[in-house]
Amino acid sequence: MTEIPPHGLFRRWPLMGVAPDDSEDLRLKKAVMTITSTSIAFLAIFWGSFYIYNGYPFSGAIPLTYSVVSFSSTLHFFKTRHFAFFCFSQQLLILLLPYFLMWSLGGFANGSVVMIWAIFAPLAALFFIDLKAATRWMLAFLALLILSALFDQTFAAHARPMPAGLNTFYFLLNLGCGFILIAIMLYYFVKDRESAYTKLQQSETHIRELMLTDPLTDVANRRHLDSRMVMELSRQMRYGPPLSVILTDIDWFKRVNDTYGHAVGDTVLKAFADHLRDSLRVSDFVARYGGEEFVLLLPNTTIEDATALAERIRETTKQILFAQPELCMTASFGVTAARPGETMTEVLSRADEAMYQSKSQGRDRVSVLME
Ligand code: GH3
Ligand code: MG
Ligand code: MG
Repeated sequence: MTEIPPHGLFRRWPLMGVAPDDSEDLRLKKAVMTITSTSIAFLAIFWGSFYIYNGYPFSGAIPLTYSVVSFSSTLHFFKTRHFAFFCFSQQLLILLLPYFLMWSLGGFANGSVVMIWAIFAPLAALFFIDLKAATRWMLAFLALLILSALFDQTFAAHARPMPAGLNTFYFLLNLGCGFILIAIMLYYFVKDRESAYTKLQQSETHIRELMLTDPLTDVANRRHLDSRMVMELSRQMRYGPPLSVILTDIDWFKRVNDTYGHAVGDTVLKAFADHLRDSLRVSDFVARYGGEEFVLLLPNTTIEDATALAERIRETTKQILFAQPELCMTASFGVTAARPGETMTEVLSRADEAMYQSKSQGRDRVSVLME
């Protein structure tokens, strides 16, 4: 619906009121409004001619006049692209036409439920404006309906009764065509809402991911660690499997920054984060805890297995190669496991203590503090 086909009035028509900078949403609305009002205007020509053919020239003149005014309003819209005015005039026209026609035929009995077409006014408001506007148009629809009920006898008294067969024929035609068009509009309405909802959901998921991810290293951030840790601790409380935690901090990282600059420091950080992620199982979790500190959460892992893992990561960290051949990174590790009922702060401060033991004993090592 975004591209205007090179030729073919039939395909170009719905897009004649579209401006190049219109949003996808507005293009759809303009196209649906144009198609609907044009379809109804064409149908009105048929309706009017048929009434005239059956000997109701005055009643026939009403839909024909409607067609002329409706087409003029559409052409005016194509010229000015004033969509709000186009909507309002089309709604007003479609609200009044069926009632005028019904009254001219002699009220409900002779009107063959032609006023069903007026339901397009609130429906259009629902699709193009909002629920509040739709309610106002619905109230106008009901007011005209009540007015019709009050004056029905007056109209009927002046009416020339329509032959029963013709009345039924119009009845079915009005119901059939009316409902088909209403269904088409509702289809577009629902589709439009669905796609808007999907887009909203996608951007929401994206925003949530952004909120939980550290932008530099692409691993989880502190906020994500907090919620994950609370979850894992409560799971451990309930089911009791071991939950181990490793805290790791790059050694002499300040020197890397000082020697090679902050950009290289960032590269080293990213490489370390990638390395940590690659060393873990899917059920494990890695988060950037601070500047060059990371936390590994290892559910269902004993402290012995966690220590072995930390040892393995420590050894392989030294093997990471950088563009600067002389650059060799090491890291210090603190390993612990959570006791049932412990808070996040308690577990992390013990891991921190273990990590600082490694630092004070000369770095590039793993220290363990039992729970
Ligand atoms: P230690 O072995 O005791 O851990 O020494 P260290 O130099 O690694 O520790 P220190 O805490 O003194 O220095 C950490 C440095 O990390 C200081 C800070 O500038 C740097 N840093 C923190 N965040 C970033 C970052 O996002 N990018 C870069 N390039 N450096 C960072
Ligand atoms: Mg450090
Ligand atoms: Mg540090």
